[in-house]
Amino acid sequence: MSHDEPAGGDPLAPPAAADDRVLLTVGGLEKNFGTNRVVDGVDFEVRRGEVVVLIGPSGSGKTTVLRCLNGLEIADAGRVAFDGGPAIDFGRRVSKADRRALRDRSAMVFQHHNLFPHRTVLQNVVEGPVHAHGVGRGEAVARAEALLARVGLGEKRNAYPFELSGGQQQRLGIVRALALQPDLLLFDEPTSALDPELVGEVLAVLKELAEEGWTMVIVTHELSFARKVADEVLFFDRGAIVERGTPGELFTRPQHERTRRFVDSIL
Ligand code: ADP
Repeated sequence: MSHDEPAGGDPLAPPAAADDRVLLTVGGLEKNFGTNRVVDGVDFEVRRGEVVVLIGPSGSGKTTVLRCLNGLEIADAGRVAFDGGPAIDFGRRVSKADRRALRDRSAMVFQHHNLFPHRTVLQNVVEGPVHAHGVGRGEAVARAEALLARVGLGEKRNAYPFELSGGQQQRLGIVRALALQPDLLLFDEPTSALDPELVGEVLAVLKELAEEGWTMVIVTHELSFARKVADEVLFFDRGAIVERGTPGELFTRPQHERTRRFVDSIL
């Protein structure tokens, strides 16, 4: 990757200047586990700088879609393209280079942040850019320190993950993803493992990233948060997108009975 940060720029700013071109195109995505089709013909687009939120009942395929976008799972059919470039066609054999291309474009923040327990906060952030992207250690450290400071973790740089609160650990997980300078951030229920009083501090960081212009796809049950940050909400049920629209459209005037029932059960 060759994203240069603007000199003196805000470390929370996304790598490329935000514009509204389509960054991600997903078409006809399918994924089976055995005989169980868990993603069943999913199509959507994400423009640069846009925040797309995936909602829906547990088991409706949202996480699997994220994992297919990031190359953690290989879809069985469908296409994924970035920046209108050539699509990776899952109906054909997916090469190692395709998989690598997917991994390089996005960074995923998990429900359980998957931090390295025996490395310090700073080492956790520096590891990815240095080992996966070949960034020089000095540059990686400088960027990591700036990012940690921006999310209020500057003084924790030499602490170990177990010394952090759950909310601090998740903020560190987010910083680790940002340090990779991906085009796209993927969040898989980033607050669902947190105690309720810690949810707000993590959502505040996500909101700030949205305002900075990051392109994000977020799986969450936090509908009031989705209402504030989402440009588009996709409602999933049984592996398919049943309804899509702005938060206002989906939450206040859902067209489908299944969407209405889901929204009513949460709001
Ligand atoms: P959601 O994120 O909407 O809760 P998931 O994408 O996690 O849904 O799961 C969709 C379905 O796929 C569920 O029925 C789940 O049990 C199944 N599933 C997910 N991952 C695997 C796996 N690695 N092996 C088998 N089944 C899986």
